[in-house]
Amino acid sequence: MISGYEVSKGIGIGVAVIVPAGEYSGQNEADNAFSSFVSRISPGAVIVAESFTPVMAASLRDKNVAAIVCETGGMTSHSALVAKSFGIPAVYGAIGATHIIKDGDTVIVDGLHGNVYERPDTSLIEEFSSRRKGFIKDRADLERYRGMKTVLADGSGAEVLCNVSDIIGVMSAIENGAEGIGLLRTENLFTGNKTAPTEEEQTRSYMRVARAMDGHGVVIRTLDIGGDKMLPFMKSEQETNPFLGFRAIRYSLANRDFFIPQLRAILKASAAGNVSIMIPMVTCIEEIRNVKALIHEVKSDLRDEGAEFNDDIRIGAMIETPAAAVISDLLAEECDFFSIGTNDLVQYTMCADRSNSKLTYLQAVTHPSVLRLIARTIENANAAGIPVSICGEAASEPFMIPVLAGFGCRRFSVDPLSVPEVRRTLSTWTTEKAKALADEILKIPSDGEIKEYLRKNIH
Ligand code: PEP
Ligand code: MG
Repeated sequence: MISGYEVSKGIGIGVAVIVPAGEYSGQNEADNAFSSFVSRISPGAVIVAESFTPVMAASLRDKNVAAIVCETGGMTSHSALVAKSFGIPAVYGAIGATHIIKDGDTVIVDGLHGNVYERPDTSLIEEFSSRRKGFIKDRADLERYRGMKTVLADGSGAEVLCNVSDIIGVMSAIENGAEGIGLLRTENLFTGNKTAPTEEEQTRSYMRVARAMDGHGVVIRTLDIGGDKMLPFMKSEQETNPFLGFRAIRYSLANRDFFIPQLRAILKASAAGNVSIMIPMVTCIEEIRNVKALIHEVKSDLRDEGAEFNDDIRIGAMIETPAAAVISDLLAEECDFFSIGTNDLVQYTMCADRSNSKLTYLQAVTHPSVLRLIARTIENANAAGIPVSICGEAASEPFMIPVLAGFGCRRFSVDPLSVPEVRRTLSTWTTEKAKALADEILKIPSDGEIKEYLRKNIH
């Protein structure tokens, strides 16, 4: 057995296909070559690789892959999130997998516990086949939550929104009964292309999403590039610390030839639905002010051109850096809403690269520092009367949902497949019980003890 980390729930049993080491590991031409490698794979394969880029993971959509095993990559690395959004069971951090497992081996991937079983005997296959049936049955039981409204056990209302990257994700959000799109990651539009999409292409994409959501909220995040998401046409030098580097809003504000067409496209799409703009990786108030000034200019140009747009479009900030969380009271005065990105908030608070599987023990949303920052941000947003949602992976963790609700959050933005389960979890907690849990959690001094407390008190 090889131990790793569960990054995408489910159990997969299939025949191993080893991705040749180094060949597809990172650059965009290599990603394209991987796509052609994938097209030759038979359905039911378990893909075993040393590393996976988000584009590599994206090429596995609809390929009937049984599971993914990856030696590297953290629990919230972007390629792991892509696998999760496709519902492909995945275990990352399975060190040695590409050597221990041989091409053609039968493999069991337990994406519920983070274990991989190479060359299992018949009884183990039977055991996991039956566990897989149980998992599939539970998914079927969850179906009824798709069409329901989100309410806590005391009848107070909440919302389950979705994180999506494209129109297929939007359709899945609708099918799963999401109450809106809480995070449209726009990077997908840019990755895989040799050139940046034009303003018209972007406008069409955003309008399609806005129309499909038919009046429900659509939060479009401006380009969040850098870190583990690079673009073939990005004008940037190699950086020593890419996650701490020239990325997201820093990149956009300095590259207006990118940013202005995106802002124009989002504004134009706001004529077709309930669209908001969200700024990623904010660390200071000037970034918000600069974006607002730019939006003001863009609006004035659009007005001159006679283009339609929503003049009252809401502008929000991702709270995903400790700096932003600490000044969330000040940012609340400049923003119409917040969305807490716990994936990056954990990475930046714990100083632990989210894509590094050796640091998974530090990827702890339950660390007291992270919990305090989240609680503080929600409190500041509520005090200022602006909406706040959670759009990091913590929003779909059954043990974190009551804690976040207890901090006062009522909007959870998750991958489409998690909508019914999040709704079911919320339906079992009253406001009072969740608050009592959250108050207790804030008194506990360590991540380990908090996890233990949650394990004992959440069933
Ligand atoms: C986050 O950081 O929590 C988030 C939702 O954004 P992303 O995962 O795209 O960085
Ligand atoms: Mg982020």
